[in-house]
Amino acid sequence: MVKPKPEQKIKLEQLRSIVLDLMQDMEIWSEIDTDELEKIDLGVLRINATQRHGVTRWKKGVDVSNLTPCDVQEINIHPDLLEERWNAYAAFVLHHEYIHALGFREHDKRFRYLEKSWPGSKAVKHGSEFTEFLRMKNAKWIWSCRTCNKEFPRKKPSKGMYKCRECNTVLIDNKI
Ligand SMILES: [Zn+2]
Ligand SMILES: [Zn+2]
Repeated sequence: MVKPKPEQKIKLEQLRSIVLDLMQDMEIWSEIDTDELEKIDLGVLRINATQRHGVTRWKKGVDVSNLTPCDVQEINIHPDLLEERWNAYAAFVLHHEYIHALGFREHDKRFRYLEKSWPGSKAVKHGSEFTEFLRMKNAKWIWSCRTCNKEFPRKKPSKGMYKCRECNTVLIDNKI
């Protein structure tokens, strides 16, 4: 775990209260005691993490067939999600992690149903925008298309092995 800085801690606490307040108004969680969720430690992922937006870490040796919020070691959120522009998506991500914490370990049908009950309807769109933002931030190369001028930020050069998904022209590498 990366220890959150004091200003990140404040933002994580704000995020937690926004999400828990909303959850209390959600039909699907009407039976749930959110006090246990409130006790879970929140932290941040490494700043250069690109694959994950949030993660729930379980304590060692817990009974995976009967998970509860007490079995959670910590929940980590991508630090860039604490920037104001990502507020709405950050709340969706923390709700996602809280579903795990409530004992739903896998991304199965039931999980996706609970996740979709979140009131923010643009979460999927925000999620792909955040993915694209991280890609751009971590890019070392731009793969570009000479035909339609589309650009694809990537960590590695394409070495002539990829074609433009719009027009099928072989992409050219440009180092940033
Ligand atoms: Zn998940
Ligand atoms: Zn093209």
